[in-house]
Amino acid sequence: MQQPAKPLLLLDVDGPLNPYAAKPHRRPEGYQTHRVKPDSWIARHPEKPAAHVRPLRLWLNPAHGPELLALPYELVWCTTWKEEANTWISPLLGLPRLPYVDWPKMHHGDPDGLHWKTRYLTSWAAGRPFAWVDDELEPQDTEWIAANHPAPALTLCIDHRVGLQPADFATLAAWAEAVEA
Ligand SMILES: [Mg+2]
Repeated sequence: MQQPAKPLLLLDVDGPLNPYAAKPHRRPEGYQTHRVKPDSWIARHPEKPAAHVRPLRLWLNPAHGPELLALPYELVWCTTWKEEANTWISPLLGLPRLPYVDWPKMHHGDPDGLHWKTRYLTSWAAGRPFAWVDDELEPQDTEWIAANHPAPALTLCIDHRVGLQPADFATLAAWAEAVEA
């Protein structure tokens, strides 16, 4: 008999994994500092030649890779980094290449005040249970997903000053268990 598919874990980078809004002089405990220049970062500085763009400071906690892999989910990048998360983030966390949501457009307004990711990631999930982990989701996103997605969904809003916490991993594990039961 075929094993039932695990729920999807739709994972944002900036906020949950990179607590970019922590005080700049205080790297959060357990995190390592990386300075990287992905193409998507260079593209945000069209006025400068690529060589003159200052690298992006990235804080990552190397424990998060194994902790994510231990969760009973299929991991999916759900971030403006798109495929570049596989180039820059996965190796630093010890994660394999992951599928990613390839947004047709980003940062656009929504007629119902939803996050620009909400409608697209819900259709990307194609009726499968999912948990969405992001620092920008709002109550209206959770409500819209509950009303429009035919399977269970968990929205987990992360404080971009602290990133993923042990309690968040516990919440994700408990939710997946409840969905599979
Ligand atoms: Mg974010």
